[in-house]
Amino acid sequence: MASELKIGERVLALVKGDITQIPADVIVNAANEGLTGGGGVDGAIHRAGGPAIMGDLQRRYGKRRQCPTGSAVVSEAGDLPAKWVIHAVGPRWRGGNFLEADLLWSAYRSAFHMADQLEARTVTFPAISTGIYGYPADKAAPVILSALKEGLEGAEFVERVTIVLFTGGPLAIFEEALEAGV
Ligand code: ADP
Repeated sequence: MASELKIGERVLALVKGDITQIPADVIVNAANEGLTGGGGVDGAIHRAGGPAIMGDLQRRYGKRRQCPTGSAVVSEAGDLPAKWVIHAVGPRWRGGNFLEADLLWSAYRSAFHMADQLEARTVTFPAISTGIYGYPADKAAPVILSALKEGLEGAEFVERVTIVLFTGGPLAIFEEALEAGV
């Protein structure tokens, strides 16, 4: 099964693991609109990174901060093995007719663009929206892979993007989608 796609000198890779443990210039978080932290990968990132992440979000975006679905904001990375955390907000799955694919695409493209502007060379992404937000992994995978491929094709600095899947089921689904062609 394919776990890597080469785009010229650049690479889009899939790996199974805990995103908080994998060093990268930028770690992308699956956040919510209020940037309040929460369960899933968001909770894991705030726990592993420590209070510096929330403190920095508060400093930059204020107490009533909002990050609309499909967009992203940045903070420092605290104790995580990264320079920055980019908090991207994916859509809740509502059956597929509520622009979910467009919003998921936009969350990845916004986060990617921000990472490139920060001159990141390595970026890790979780499978945004596929946990608590209920987006089926087999429907999310082609959207995510093509958004990241397009990002890599136009990137100035980013050389390697890794999608970190927490469990084997989603990993197999993403591998299959990569194999089927992006
Ligand atoms: P959302 O609310 O956007 O669906 P979740 O955090 O619930 O976000 O889930 C997004 C994906 O992140 C899920 O596939 C979940 O299994 C995965 N995930 C949870 N914890 C981690 C982690 N530590 N590292 C990588 N992925 C994780």
